[in-house]
Amino acid sequence: MLPKPSPKEVDRKGRLAAEAHGVPKQDPEVRRHNFQETYLPFDPETAMKEAERCIQCPGAKCVKACPLHNDIPLALWQLEHGNFEDAAKVFRMTSSMPEVCGRVCPQVLLCEGVCIYIKKGKPPVPVGRLEAFVADYERTHGGFVIEKEPATGHRAAVVGAGPAGITVAEDLAKKGHAVTVFDTWPAPGGVMRYGIPQFKMDHHVVDDKIDYLKALGVEFRFNTTIGKDIGIDELVEQGYETVFLGVGAGVGVEFKVPGADLDGVYSATPFLIRGNVDEEKRPQDLKKPPIVGNRVAVIGGGDTAMDCVRTSVRLGAAEVICVYRRTEVEMPGNERDRQFAKEEGVEFHWLTQPVRLIGDDEGRVAAMECIRMELGEPDDSGRRRPVPIEGSEFTMEVDTVISALGYWPDPLLGEKTQDLATHDWGLITIDEETGATSRRNVFAGGDDVLGPNLVVTAVAQAKVAAKAMHEYLMGLPGKVDA
Ligand SMILES: Cc1cc2nc3c(=O)[nH]c(=O)nc-3n(C[C@H](O)[C@H](O)[C@H](O)COP(=O)(O)OP(=O)(O)OC[C@H]3O[C@@H](n4cnc5c(N)ncnc54)[C@H](O)[C@@H]3O)c2cc1C
Repeated sequence: MLPKPSPKEVDRKGRLAAEAHGVPKQDPEVRRHNFQETYLPFDPETAMKEAERCIQCPGAKCVKACPLHNDIPLALWQLEHGNFEDAAKVFRMTSSMPEVCGRVCPQVLLCEGVCIYIKKGKPPVPVGRLEAFVADYERTHGGFVIEKEPATGHRAAVVGAGPAGITVAEDLAKKGHAVTVFDTWPAPGGVMRYGIPQFKMDHHVVDDKIDYLKALGVEFRFNTTIGKDIGIDELVEQGYETVFLGVGAGVGVEFKVPGADLDGVYSATPFLIRGNVDEEKRPQDLKKPPIVGNRVAVIGGGDTAMDCVRTSVRLGAAEVICVYRRTEVEMPGNERDRQFAKEEGVEFHWLTQPVRLIGDDEGRVAAMECIRMELGEPDDSGRRRPVPIEGSEFTMEVDTVISALGYWPDPLLGEKTQDLATHDWGLITIDEETGATSRRNVFAGGDDVLGPNLVVTAVAQAKVAAKAMHEYLMGLPGKVDA
């Protein structure tokens, strides 16, 4: 691997003057009819030229802005010299899934948002797409290398096969521990499969990662809910010496308006699963594809709402409207996905709140009564509070309504596990330095600790917990080889 460049090796002025080459994407008119990834892969030459735009800033702000503190300048230095696998290795030093983060991180709020080029009014170095390029190159040229330490004889259980659980499973398996992952869904990936649509990230990326974990020796048990089918105490009784809880925050906020039980009204997660996940990987009750009419309204303004509007477009809806009670400025989601939705023809109705849904004679939603809002004083989130304008009610015709109002943590594990401390509607309380919960030998991380957040923050927390779990296991009386 090349060492970091010395300042003399980098012509910063020359690099800053160079033009960006752009990031290849499917045309909106084409992509609105397919579920393939919106971004197209870089060709190697363009990837190298884009990496060469990095001026190797001293004190690189992008590294600080990345929750995993990936050494982005070093990875891009490798990339610009054509050392694609070494560049991937640099990302893998700190990240368990650069192929995922490169695709789904909101880079504009993280590494790319602090790139020097932003200040100069130019496109930032496309760190995310370059990260995906080298990680994909590594996957498709020789694949992952299976390297693990000798078996320790220790056993760990991981609850939840999302990014947090997968990260812990990988890190512990590489250290030689025997790891079993339990999940409620019939297939692994958590929200990476049962949430994020394939036009943001193709499921083969998740499948390849799982194949790698299996090759490392990780075992998976699906259709198993811990806290219901089997408790944490039973896992300990079965010989798991440490347990990681990575169960996410997947309980959808209820859409509480009259008429929410009409046919044609969906909540986001079941809709996204039925619309995006291969049938054999869907649970029994979500086997049927959703019936999307001509005029779809999606309620909400975050990432999930954008995933629902863009899925509706691809399922053939003639008109798709996003209904949000504040303005675009207060929208919480990734600006990039909102831009993609606009390019794909989605309309936005700001400052609008649904009041009730009206059905036709057959019990299917036919219209939605809404009220106009205005912005008042800031609320606890710091955003201006939406206030209804009296007498401004109006009705819009719709035949499908999807609520994407956010998520809560699932209180199940907190309620069913003695001495597991939780707070704020079920979030698990941890020691931030180690991920340790109030239960000895039980650790946690990801959305079940942070609340609905990001893949990259789940991975970052899981890495901390995996290190502490390994230390915990190695402090136990030694075991003969498994
Ligand atoms: C629709 C949607 C789109 C998103 N888009 C993005 C994006 O573009 N970029 C981004 O960075 N983030 C995005 N996020 C957020 C991101 O996916 C999450 O922050 C991340 O997946 C959290 O990882 P996790 O491992 O903590 O939890 P999850 O991914 O939620 O995984 C938890 C797993 O635990 C399982 N589980 C739950 N309870 C139990 C139990 N009792 N027993 C056994 N298994 C259990 C679940 O079935 C699930 O598989 C999105 C979220 C949603 C909902």
